[in-house]
Amino acid sequence: MTMACRSGCGACCIAPSVSEPFFGMPEGKPAGMPCTHLSEDFACKLFGDPRRPAMCSQFMAEESVCGFDRRDALARLALLEIESQPVRS
Ligand code: SF4
Repeated sequence: MTMACRSGCGACCIAPSVSEPFFGMPEGKPAGMPCTHLSEDFACKLFGDPRRPAMCSQFMAEESVCGFDRRDALARLALLEIESQPVRS
């Protein structure tokens, strides 16, 4: 179920990787690293800017991903990041 973003969260701008290059991060964003556009109060400084990555604009907060608080969201997103990696043989 979708939900409103928690103010002061920013978990989705830290835990997941962004594989595509984008403004300010020409090699994308590694998992676990805060995005260079994340403000001190955990807001996106590129919000509404066409240079914001498409995956950020498409992300919708939802209870199954964002959990019950920021810490839970960081843990759930980190786990999703690991689970979405290709299996190495
Ligand atoms: S561009 Fe904005 S929404 Fe996307 S990861 Fe960076 S701070 Fe977050």
